[in-house]
Amino acid sequence: MDFKEQLKSSLSIEKVVGEYVRLKKAGPQRYVGLCPFHNEKTPSFGVNVVRQFYKCFGCGAGGDVIDFVMKYEGISFYEALKSLAERNGIPMPQRPLVADADSRLRESIFQMHELAQEQFRANLESAAGEQARGYLAKRGVAQETIEQFGMGYSDRSGRTLIRLLEQKRFTSAQLEPSGLVRKRDDGSFYDYFRNRLMFPIHSESGKIIGFGGRALAAEDNPKYLNSPETPIYKKSHVLYNLHRAKDAIRKEERSILVEGYMDAIGVTAAGFRAVVASCGTSLTDQQVKALKRHSDRIVVNFDPDAAGANASERSINMLLEEGMNLRIMELDGGLDPDEYCKQRGASAYEERLNGARPYFYWLADRARKLHDARTTEGKVAILKFLLPAVERISDRLERMTIANDVAGYIGIERGLVLDSFRKSVAERREQRFQPPKIELRQEEKYLLNAIFGDPEIRDEILPELKTMEAITRFNSRRIFQAIFALDAAGGSITFDEVNARLEEGDQNLLAEAVLREDMQLSRDQVLAAVRSLRRTGEQQSREQLKAKIREAERAGQWEEALSLTEQLQRSERDLRGAK
Ligand SMILES: [Zn+2]
Repeated sequence: MDFKEQLKSSLSIEKVVGEYVRLKKAGPQRYVGLCPFHNEKTPSFGVNVVRQFYKCFGCGAGGDVIDFVMKYEGISFYEALKSLAERNGIPMPQRPLVADADSRLRESIFQMHELAQEQFRANLESAAGEQARGYLAKRGVAQETIEQFGMGYSDRSGRTLIRLLEQKRFTSAQLEPSGLVRKRDDGSFYDYFRNRLMFPIHSESGKIIGFGGRALAAEDNPKYLNSPETPIYKKSHVLYNLHRAKDAIRKEERSILVEGYMDAIGVTAAGFRAVVASCGTSLTDQQVKALKRHSDRIVVNFDPDAAGANASERSINMLLEEGMNLRIMELDGGLDPDEYCKQRGASAYEERLNGARPYFYWLADRARKLHDARTTEGKVAILKFLLPAVERISDRLERMTIANDVAGYIGIERGLVLDSFRKSVAERREQRFQPPKIELRQEEKYLLNAIFGDPEIRDEILPELKTMEAITRFNSRRIFQAIFALDAAGGSITFDEVNARLEEGDQNLLAEAVLREDMQLSRDQVLAAVRSLRRTGEQQSREQLKAKIREAERAGQWEEALSLTEQLQRSERDLRGAK
């Protein structure tokens, strides 16, 4: 067994996928959840425990546990193997697997980030870190929190980290793309971060992939400097603190979104663990999807003055676009989330959190500020302002409730509000795209399930299936051909082996047949399916014979017609005999 197979057999796919996607048990062998690879509200993504395979019936994504990690994390085969092995304490083979150049470069950049993290932490403890320690003390950050979040300090010299990395013999081809150093014209390097308080940024699986650095001197710009894009850091994919928060987000079925590192840290330290930070830029769809995999409910807690700012507005739009259930949390006194927790205490913050209002009311407030609800024109303008947001509420009951509330809120007749809401939702529904449905007969599904489910029945029915002409007319014929070819070559007929030989369209059909539902078939059911197919096939060939006879008669080929008729009679005798 090669290492890939060994690794796969020691992992359970539902556990690994379950770290990324909320899965619900849907049958003895099956889990379902929302697909991480496309946007959906009802789950069409399934994990089959017995076949150790995942499949999305919405977008077609599918594969084994290693494929899943490769696709989700956007990493190579080798990296997925390594990451899975490491996370599960399974030793990698001594002889290194062949890693491609990209994987090797990324691996070296990961190592450099680990070294940088150690260095930054040591700096913070050292004499050079005095000012940074002073800043943290002033912001009321406890030692325990500093350690939990791995905060550190990049010193002023611009030489400390590069010296360490060169001493560890990283080459300039590795150093240059690392994002940790910069190159001078003469080819020498200096540290990218200087005199900054450092926040390590982690991937969802918990690896350090970049840093954020806060300026400590007033004259240093920008105030926050982040790692540039590197082979391991894609800004648009990462949310700060998600790897720590994700368990809490699932448990509480809600995330809290704040803006800055210090907000995420302060709110976590106050006891709210489901918090992530966007770090100042507006959210991307990949970030929202990463959140949504853990819960589609989110409370947005931006800085008080920023609620109308462009970045927040765009973030809110992106959250609605991705179908998140969104609430807005407002803090009084002009305090940011970190300050609020420290000055008012955790229970005051919790009160605000629980009192966060659905996005809609926040929007209605804004509409009322913009337009005069006492005039007819004002009312119409308010309604128009709110309609796009209403269209995004997918739950009918929620929509009605909100329509009701809004009517009362802005003093418009209820019927009018409901009417315009209904219209806009109906228009939207018509635009929805319906994917074409794949059709498989019941018998095809039975046979495929039997073939992969039970070796004994498989051996019993395969020889007959191979001779059956009816199969060549099935939608699943190429799947059967792959099975027959594999059998003829003496290979073992497993789901993986067959699946690997199919084109994408046929992979989807196969998944449709054997992964969508748990099919526990008795031997009798399977044999009945074979009989029914045989009958259908014979029926069809008799119809063909009859057509040929008619044709021969029309052409005056009597001898031919006679011989065909004898064939037909034989076949009908056989049929009667078989009954
Ligand atoms: Zn999908």
